Amino acid sequence: MSALLFRSTNCQSPSVNLREAFLAGQAPDRGLYLPEIFPQLTREEIAGFAELPYREVAFRVLRKFTQDLIPDAALAAMCNKAYDFGVPLEVIQRGVYLMRLDQGPTASFKDFAAQMMAQMFGRFLQEDGSQVTILTATSGDTGSAVAHAFHRVPGVRVIVLFPEAEISVSQRKLMTTLKDNIRTVAITGKFDDCQAMVKRAFSDPALEHIHLSSANSINIGRLLPQSVYYFYAASRLARPGEPMVFSIPSGNFGDMMGCVVARSMGLPVRKIIASVNDNDAFPRFLASGVYEKISPSRNSVSNAMNVGHPSNLARLVAVYGGHMDETGKIHRQPDLAAMRRDIFSTSITDERTRTSLRDFWNKYQILLEPHGVVAWQGFLDWCAAEPLGSTPAVIVETANPAKFPEEVEKVVGWAPDVPAAMTAGLQLPEDYDRMEADYEKFRDYLIAKHAKA
Ligand SMILES: *Cc1c(COP(=O)(O)O)cnc(C)c1O
Repeated sequence: MSALLFRSTNCQSPSVNLREAFLAGQAPDRGLYLPEIFPQLTREEIAGFAELPYREVAFRVLRKFTQDLIPDAALAAMCNKAYDFGVPLEVIQRGVYLMRLDQGPTASFKDFAAQMMAQMFGRFLQEDGSQVTILTATSGDTGSAVAHAFHRVPGVRVIVLFPEAEISVSQRKLMTTLKDNIRTVAITGKFDDCQAMVKRAFSDPALEHIHLSSANSINIGRLLPQSVYYFYAASRLARPGEPMVFSIPSGNFGDMMGCVVARSMGLPVRKIIASVNDNDAFPRFLASGVYEKISPSRNSVSNAMNVGHPSNLARLVAVYGGHMDETGKIHRQPDLAAMRRDIFSTSITDERTRTSLRDFWNKYQILLEPHGVVAWQGFLDWCAAEPLGSTPAVIVETANPAKFPEEVEKVVGWAPDVPAAMTAGLQLPEDYDRMEADYEKFRDYLIAKHAKA
């Protein structure tokens, strides 16, 4: 059996295997990689996950993509190392559950992909002894997850760009207190500026001598691990073959694409609810078929979702038979009717986010944070349009409330406890560079950093 191939959403670059897609990050034609065909899991395989710990579920899902590239024993060991934390599923009310993806080392769901990517990069680089620089733009949580996961991984240097004024202090400290192979740069601009600078660096001939890669959700290596927890939840909460509803707070739509990947692999899903903050380019597109990115992106309390032009929409459009290029231009419309059947999307204002956080606490005595509560409110919006009935539903909580103590305290009146894993890092001295959102300066910076090495 030959290895699974990945095609570019822009259709101009040749298909490659997982290793190549992974190390490249983005396709040479600036498209994003997607599996040519999605490997399938049977109803029995999925039902069997109910008895297995998370790391074992991850192994069984991911091996469908790594066959012929990574021996099973090695992949199993990688999953053991990556996933030494739990995935709590709490009951909110009958048939409605909260999936907490905040138990990793940096307390956001970004740990799920970052931990696995670090294992994969470590392995692929070791195989050929090469070096790579991972450039990452972060709206808050990716940077810390990636920095922690890749800290001291041989052969890897990490440079993280973050919008100086748009992330919380704890989000910042979780990455600026690491040293060694991790460098962080505060950009006096927005997340979209950071993302645009990173994207330009990838296609800049002046940087050809540096092997750059990406740990952003443009990398297919980000998406595949993010499909696993949907299988995990379904195996535990639904009867075999029973479709579910997942409500996912969305910014760059990587988490949501993880669910689309899971469905494409055979997971029965009745509806995906993709809730966004004021950055409502996707719900508008879904309603009208007209895509207009939001530029500059809008600030909101769910800062990790301040994304004006979600890069994963190119993948979503491709899954539905269309073609959107990296600038957001649509060359061929996707099957919008099918998309609307499968996906519901709504935009939640900051005011509703805050009210909903307070109401949720008062009603259920469960504390959410500004991202997860966008998913909850989006779920309520959907229920108002289409009765849930007996379908099991999962609300995805993407971070720990302690990452956003200022916001949470403003709303409920007290600050959440900080998990032990987080407190240690928060005490260490910070060290980071500052830069304007100026690509030429960034290019010089990269060249200088690599000359010294
Ligand atoms: C990144 C992030 C999101 C958005 O995830 P996407 O994959 O970019 O849609 C939501 N919540 C939190 C806490 C995040 O860090």
